[in-house]
Amino acid sequence: MDLTVEQECPQCGAPIELNETDHMLRCPYCNVKTFLFAPDYFRFVLPHKTTNKEIIYAPYLRFRGNVYSCQSQSIQHRVVDITHLGTTFKGLPVSLGVRPQAMKMKFVTSDTAGLFLKSSVRTIDMLTAVGKHTSIFVSGETFHCAYIGESLSLIYLPLFMEDNMVVDAVTNSPITKLPSDHDIFESATNKNHNWGLTFMATLCPQCGWNLEGERDSVVLTCSNCDTAWEASKGKFTQVDISVIPGRETNTVYLPFWKISATSKGVEINSYADFIQATNQPVVVKKDWGKQDMSFWSPAFKIRPKIFLHLSKQLTISQPHFRAEKVSAKKNLYPVTLPQTEAAQGMKLTLAGSATIKKKIMPILPRLKFNIKDSSLVYLPFTDTGHDMVHQQLPVSINKKALEFGRHL
Ligand SMILES: [Zn+2]
Ligand SMILES: [Zn+2]
Repeated sequence: MDLTVEQECPQCGAPIELNETDHMLRCPYCNVKTFLFAPDYFRFVLPHKTTNKEIIYAPYLRFRGNVYSCQSQSIQHRVVDITHLGTTFKGLPVSLGVRPQAMKMKFVTSDTAGLFLKSSVRTIDMLTAVGKHTSIFVSGETFHCAYIGESLSLIYLPLFMEDNMVVDAVTNSPITKLPSDHDIFESATNKNHNWGLTFMATLCPQCGWNLEGERDSVVLTCSNCDTAWEASKGKFTQVDISVIPGRETNTVYLPFWKISATSKGVEINSYADFIQATNQPVVVKKDWGKQDMSFWSPAFKIRPKIFLHLSKQLTISQPHFRAEKVSAKKNLYPVTLPQTEAAQGMKLTLAGSATIKKKIMPILPRLKFNIKDSSLVYLPFTDTGHDMVHQQLPVSINKKALEFGRHL
């Protein structure tokens, strides 16, 4: 489900509606573009109309993304979309239900009045709990799990106290009686100042030109100086990009992360190591031993099955690419999956590429990658109407799947 957020334009104050996963705010009134950045994740509140009451906000962790589980013979996967109570305080609803869908959320700002209950459930614990409840984990030993999707956020439910009852300030209905020995305010905290949302001007740090991107882009590009930028610690840092030039004038460039790494626990330090570890039916060439190992992954959100398939196809066929340090000025498909998320798919790619699954799966727990270098590579595709077809490799992606991926 897509949740809606209302945010005022930092330039002219006009109300703008966003999707919860949007990073780029484009004001339809003053036309100014702003990039939204939060140091860890976005924090939202559900609006309430209560006056003259002290509001206490209860945290709910929200995860939207793909969950993968490596079993002895296969990789299971599922698209997950959940909110789950993020505090151990008893009596509160475990999930927010349909509340967030019915209303427009707002970002937590320094002006949001009220106390906030501490979020005491660790993300990984919540995801593990979710994993246990989905059928993908029940069929046997799990050697590795990965949660890939950049939409992790906190949604706060407003509450207030009335006659020792905890009342939901959205619906004005009582939720639970507070135990007499318990003070809900004890575990509440004021907002942390680091929660703040940063509004970043979308100007190229190198040349001052307007950066380009779409509302769900996590990497912005500058067509003036041919650079790409991602937000980190409240400022734009440069991303290494290269482009495999297309043959046709209407070429569409889809972005992929190329992550070069060495490994510990299991030796996969060259392309030859990878080919041997995954038992590819090819004769290892001499120079492959000197070739760095790079893991490829889509840099856009897409269904798990296609994500695994594309990562595998491109990782296995990597030696055929000769990238150039030139820019394609147009038809760049937006980067909607950050490098940090793509990196979490490296073990999946290794497992997915292996022809003998039961040989590779048991080594996954002790395998550790050390990322040496990562870059964004735009590959040339032809739009055939139904599919995007790669101009050199036998790789094609259904356009509907691409479109669907933007709502994951
Ligand atoms: Zn505006
Ligand atoms: Zn520039």
